[in-house]
Amino acid sequence: MKFGGTSVGDIARIKNVAKRVKAEVDRGNQVAVVVSAMSGVTNQLVAYCTEMASLHDAREYDAIVATGEQVTSGLLAIGLQELGIQARSWAGWQIAITTDDAHGKARIESINADEMIAGMEQGHVAVVAGFQGIAPGNRVSTLGRGGSDTTAVALAAALKADRCDIYTDVDGVYTTDPRIVKTARKLDKITYEEMLESASLGAKVLQTRSVEMAMKHHVRVQVLSSFSDAPGTLVCDEDEIVEKALVSGIAYSRDEAKVTLIGVEDQPGIAAAIFGPLAEANINVDMIVQNTSRDGTTDMTFTTPRADLERALKVVKDNMKVPYKSIDTDKAVVKVSVIGVGMRSHAGVAQTMFKALADKKINIHIISTSEIKVSVLISEEYTELALRALHTAYGLDAA
Ligand code: ADP
Ligand code: ASP
Ligand code: MG
Repeated sequence: MKFGGTSVGDIARIKNVAKRVKAEVDRGNQVAVVVSAMSGVTNQLVAYCTEMASLHDAREYDAIVATGEQVTSGLLAIGLQELGIQARSWAGWQIAITTDDAHGKARIESINADEMIAGMEQGHVAVVAGFQGIAPGNRVSTLGRGGSDTTAVALAAALKADRCDIYTDVDGVYTTDPRIVKTARKLDKITYEEMLESASLGAKVLQTRSVEMAMKHHVRVQVLSSFSDAPGTLVCDEDEIVEKALVSGIAYSRDEAKVTLIGVEDQPGIAAAIFGPLAEANINVDMIVQNTSRDGTTDMTFTTPRADLERALKVVKDNMKVPYKSIDTDKAVVKVSVIGVGMRSHAGVAQTMFKALADKKINIHIISTSEIKVSVLISEEYTELALRALHTAYGLDAA
């Protein structure tokens, strides 16, 4: 069982979580629980680090931001003990969950849960601080924002758990963010692949890496609400889903910035000259368009994560060996994506998207597609309008 920030947002809510855990124990289950920090706490801890120094030691950042989860794991253990359940808290290093040394976004390398399993076999509930591990050099590490989901799925795989229940503040995975589109529908089931695309294209309900891990280890993940008993959404293999929708959902990401190099001399090797140095600097480039050439020059447009924009500009300016006229940037953009495994075998899915956006007079800056998704980059001011229009165009609105 994993409980997110809102679900452990105050003492009353942690007591509510303790009751839910007790109910599972009373049903005869052995339970490991993963908790996030109380909502808002991680943001506050990150802000403290930045206030202390805008550029700071990533190892110390991890030492600081990992504390939020430690508080809630201890509190929940006490809450369970108050209900007569034997429980103890586990920090990442105590289990141990070992990671690589990419501080701030570390990857789990191994989990040695022997001691934890021994405790669980004696009837103890293990309450694990999510989001954290231990990196080489005996340093605390964290798994990137939203990383408690990944702790939960990784532990479920290591424990060979029957289920991994992710409790959050919505009662499942919806066709799109239910906070923005009121007519969003809850899905009973979604494939690992669709969930992976949705997460990586912006739906923050599950961290992308947690879905990758679930897919790889065949962990049955269920997303459900800690505030209601409504049935949730099961993330599962494609063959478990009988009625496959053409489009299962629409995701958006505001974490984008657009860069255009204007008047680049059109010659072999320009793409390599621009994108090589960016790759070396570890800056992700997502969408790319190169316009047709006029009078021997062309415009090259691409997107990067918004947080990397300044760095990307510097890398391009410092390394550009091909002549160009100027650089234009735009941070007020959003990437909107329609996702569905049904697309593989259907034509016209992209056209529905283009027409729906055209009808709302929304201009498309860049398009990119894969087998199971179509993404467009548009101006950020149209985010909500676009999501609603697409939701309707693909017939996803709740009846
Ligand atoms: P937690 O703190 O429990 O980890 P998150 O805030 O990380 O919760 O994730 C839950 C939020 O994800 C919801 O409140 C919702 O606004 C957002 N969300 C975005 N897209 C979707 C979607 N397709 N289905 C459900 N929730 C979504
Ligand atoms: N507390 C961490 C965060 O806010 C991890 C998590 O909640 O999953 O990103
Ligand atoms: Mg989350």
